[in-house]
Amino acid sequence: MKLYYYCSSPSCKRENAIQVKATNRYDLKNEIGEEIVERCKHCGKHTKRHINRLFAKPNFLIPGFAFVMAVVSTLLLWDLGFVSTLTATVPIGIWMYEDRKASAFNKVMI
Ligand SMILES: [Zn+2]
Repeated sequence: MKLYYYCSSPSCKRENAIQVKATNRYDLKNEIGEEIVERCKHCGKHTKRHINRLFAKPNFLIPGFAFVMAVVSTLLLWDLGFVSTLTATVPIGIWMYEDRKASAFNKVMI
């Protein structure tokens, strides 16, 4: 999943993202250690952050893509009627899953 942190440079303070395999802070500690040292993509300065300072945000790209697919398949299968209800629940389901995954990560500190 994608994790975010803010740059430590006072003149920058912009948001950066890192891609990790872990879905909670315990796995994250095993994966990258207790602190990250990452180079800011905006100003190039190195930022040191404790992993408790990293936060997750739901990825809306996947439900967004699912939504587009749902619209397309609904149009293609319009005659079947019930399909529109069925296809609409898929992106909503994915969105809720992404949202829950992110808030579950943010809740647990180590
Ligand atoms: Zn920066």
